[in-house]
Amino acid sequence: MTAAKNPLVGVLALQGAFREHVAALARLGAATREVRQLRDMAGIDTMVIPGGESTTMGKLLTDLEMLEPLRARISGGMPVYGSCAGLILLCRSIEGSEQPRLGVLDAVVRRNAFGRQVDSFEADLTIPELGAEPLPAVFIRAPVILSTGPEVRVLARVEMDGAERAVAVRQGRILATSFHPELTPDTRFHRYFLDICRGAA
Ligand code: GLN
Repeated sequence: MTAAKNPLVGVLALQGAFREHVAALARLGAATREVRQLRDMAGIDTMVIPGGESTTMGKLLTDLEMLEPLRARISGGMPVYGSCAGLILLCRSIEGSEQPRLGVLDAVVRRNAFGRQVDSFEADLTIPELGAEPLPAVFIRAPVILSTGPEVRVLARVEMDGAERAVAVRQGRILATSFHPELTPDTRFHRYFLDICRGAA
């Protein structure tokens, strides 16, 4: 698959924080389409899977017969970015859960990893790919990645219970974050994703 110069970005719009992704991408001048059914996927060059509730989104993808076609597109090289619940849906393995997933990212994820006491929090993350300036990151009932396969590059980590846990990863054209860059005015993470889509990162 060749990289698109001006990719049409599908944003999965079944549930969750999809409008914020559409707005962040629009601020960067990207063309977007809200994807609600299988036929909306025709012609898109790339896909964003937003935060929300991964069990609900997985069930809707299954019921709408979109899960397999989406998995096939990603396996065929279509770039994809998943944030929070989107990350969970991308992972090969979800700790303690058999919920439907795409399973294309070679990683093991723990849902709601920060516990009820810290439902949501913000942290400044240093991500060398985005430059020296720390990225403000919003975590909401966020997952962490417990382990990754050899093809997966960890882009950012946070400390949790004395261990460093991956919260942003990349495996080829698959990008995933535990946090929500779409909820801050900082567009560098979406710009990085668009660079991947264009074959420039
Ligand atoms: N805890 C949610 C889940 O497991 C993810 C939270 C989010 O996307 N903000 O699906």
